[in-house]
Amino acid sequence: MEKKPSIGTLCVQGGWQPRSGQPRIVPIVQSTTFKYDTSEDMARLFDLETEGYFYSRLQNPTCDAVAAKIAALEGGEAAMLLSSGQAANLYAVINICEAGSHLVCSSTIYGGTFNLFGVTLRKFGVEVTFVNPDLPEEELARAFRPTTRAVFGETLSNPGMNVLDIEKFARLAHSHGVPLIIDNTFATPVNCRPIEWGADLVTHSTTKYMDGHATSLGGAIVDSGNFDWEAQADKYPGLTTPDASYHGLTYTKAFGRRAFITKATAQLMRDMGACQSPMNAFLLNLGLETLHLRMPRHCSNALRVASWLRDNESVAWVDYPGLEGDKYHDLAMKYMPGGTCGVVAFGLKGSREDAIAFMDRLKFISIVTHVADARTCVLHPASHTHRQLSDEQLREAGVAPDLIRLSVGIEDVRDIIDDLDQALRG
Ligand SMILES: *Cc1c(COP(=O)(O)O)cnc(C)c1O
Repeated sequence: MEKKPSIGTLCVQGGWQPRSGQPRIVPIVQSTTFKYDTSEDMARLFDLETEGYFYSRLQNPTCDAVAAKIAALEGGEAAMLLSSGQAANLYAVINICEAGSHLVCSSTIYGGTFNLFGVTLRKFGVEVTFVNPDLPEEELARAFRPTTRAVFGETLSNPGMNVLDIEKFARLAHSHGVPLIIDNTFATPVNCRPIEWGADLVTHSTTKYMDGHATSLGGAIVDSGNFDWEAQADKYPGLTTPDASYHGLTYTKAFGRRAFITKATAQLMRDMGACQSPMNAFLLNLGLETLHLRMPRHCSNALRVASWLRDNESVAWVDYPGLEGDKYHDLAMKYMPGGTCGVVAFGLKGSREDAIAFMDRLKFISIVTHVADARTCVLHPASHTHRQLSDEQLREAGVAPDLIRLSVGIEDVRDIIDDLDQALRG
């Protein structure tokens, strides 16, 4: 058996394997359409009988090469790119849920996903139960219903920095005959590969560390290929019975381990169109080429900053799973022994106004609605990203009202600490 390339090599070389005479670098195929010699050639593509391109809403060679790299990084069977992380989580869920379906979801997730599932999907008839992910397995099992179709959680929650016990969630999902979907945005496959711990589907906001330079919004869905849809055929008729919009084709029969991604592309992307652009996929790929170099630097900088903050007398608390003594340290060591990510959550002694004043005094650390890129930045979720949540919902999402989310970049850590120091001194 050929030796599998390691993560670092996949970051640089994965996805695009040019044949003799082709461009060394993945080309930007900036074309909406593709030309065929005969009407019959194109008809076969529409029937999904042969592989090929006809319209970039469905598939594009640049996007496919980058998706293939992400699939390889996560150790999955197939992947697709989408226009944003929001679109990735939406498609991952509605590919197997419809009105009347039920979702079990960790409550400590990104605010945007919390709204998507808790408000918007509810309007479409998908029921969601948010659960405290730290509860014991027996208690979590009570959230399941006969209509449950998936379980969802984040490896590292944004912004609470909770670490999910992926094996526990995989056991729960599988004992109820449903797949586990993991949003692996913050850990990235450099630090954690959820499929190795039992996750069936992995999603990403590639906008964050994968792109890494804050240039392009994007999302990805990776399918492990491991979930046996046929064994739960009555739960997933969309995958296991003929699709009338594709001349009676049955995805599991025609595509086997690639059924999920093929359906999400051929049906959801065709109908809803949240597609990635070839140009942005190209930029994402440049980011991926250095992901394995940037993540360790994010992690070592963040660990230094987190321990400095913990020792600072103006700081009330620090949550960083990489810190010894952190509530999630043991889980972090199990699932992410090489490091978690660059995001540190902390609170200051004093009022909410003191926190805002501290942020306004920062010099090169900027206040932006972004996280997880090369530049250190800071945000107050209760006033910014999570503004629309009540205090109770904030607590449920693991977000203290005084939480400051510091996304530690890859600059020189001494300069980051100097900037924090002058701003804390006031
Ligand atoms: C940012 C983020 C999203 C949403 O991604 P966009 O690319 O902004 O749409 C989803 N999940 C997590 C964990 C995120 O951090």
